[in-house]
Amino acid sequence: MQRIDRVDVKGKRVLVRVDFNVPLAEGTVTDDTRIRAALPTIEFLRNNGARIILMSHLGRPKGEGFEEEYSLAPVARVLSRILGEPVAFAPGTTGAEVEQLSASLEDGGVLLLENLRFDAREKKNNEEFAAELAKLADIYVDDAFGAAHRAHASVEAITRLLPSYAGFLLDLEITTLSALLEAPKRPFVAILGGSKVSDKIKIIDALLEQVDTLLVGGGMCFTFLKAQGYEIGKSLCEDEWQEGALELLQKAVDRGVQLLLPIDIVQAAYFGEDAPTKICTIDEMDSAMMGLDIGPATSELFARAISSAKTVFWNGPMGVFEMKPFESGTKTVAKAVATLQDATTVVGGGDSVAAIKVYNLQDQIGFISTGGGASMQLLEGTPLPGVEALR
Ligand code: AMP
Repeated sequence: MQRIDRVDVKGKRVLVRVDFNVPLAEGTVTDDTRIRAALPTIEFLRNNGARIILMSHLGRPKGEGFEEEYSLAPVARVLSRILGEPVAFAPGTTGAEVEQLSASLEDGGVLLLENLRFDAREKKNNEEFAAELAKLADIYVDDAFGAAHRAHASVEAITRLLPSYAGFLLDLEITTLSALLEAPKRPFVAILGGSKVSDKIKIIDALLEQVDTLLVGGGMCFTFLKAQGYEIGKSLCEDEWQEGALELLQKAVDRGVQLLLPIDIVQAAYFGEDAPTKICTIDEMDSAMMGLDIGPATSELFARAISSAKTVFWNGPMGVFEMKPFESGTKTVAKAVATLQDATTVVGGGDSVAAIKVYNLQDQIGFISTGGGASMQLLEGTPLPGVEALR
């Protein structure tokens, strides 16, 4: 994989796949993190006189043409404000008008195309669509780590049609995440949470090969606890994964990894900001209630394990942190990771990143991945189509 700064881009039209899949509310970008994450590549290209054509997906449109709520037009306005330069916006992704806009770019100029997923051919990795996109440029750059686990036309097929390079963000994501699996400073503590074991089984399996300690919280801990014979009441559970959970517990023993599960739980009868809660140890859970957060003793246990770490990887909240009564475990873990000094800390995508932002700790985290699914897949050891295509 070659990074874009290996080539002379002056006067070249460079088609850059970015991940501008940002949250929007009534046409306003509510979090510009993903736009800012692409700046190193965009600034490099501008400073070196490239003509920049940016393309991205946004949300899940039907793939039958324009849909206002998924338009990238608001993103063009935000990018223009950040760059302090006009950003031209193309009403589509291919065709004569877009080709004309691309051809009229000046050195250092920036054009953003409309949502790639308005065309159903994008997700089908369609060669013709890729060829129409390729017509717009001389060079292709992939800087969309968040989309690297998808074999889509703007990520995969296009690399067969143009000289293709990695952008700075894609390169940094891969280097940082791969380093976790290669030579992590020890102790290496991984923290996994979130709702489903089935989503995380492969990554737990892979991390057990690397880590010294694995902390498991969130809804997925209940499949482990049930498999160990505990009453879990109405808590989330994937019964078909109980055996898999037991195998992972055995693998941890075999490899000498300390795998910690909750020792106490915050329970409630229903989801809600006003739900009365009950804290109990794991052997006295109420069969009529749900476990919605790790308890205070577990939070303390996990925080202590994190405090001695030299490398931390965190993915997934410890409880339903979106609601006050069940946020404590996630908040404690977030703070424990953020207060570490002299340690490599990596938070991998999705809800754990959202939690870090809610508690305003983003500046105290070493690296926050922009790709939830892609970071999981990379750490699981499953090849990423977007990365393989560049190799
Ligand atoms: P995931 O997308 O798998 O990372 O899961 C994130 C979601 O898991 C968040 O929306 C949390 O509210 C939810 N979650 C975390 N802990 C629990 C729990 N104990 N019961 C139900 N949902 C949970």
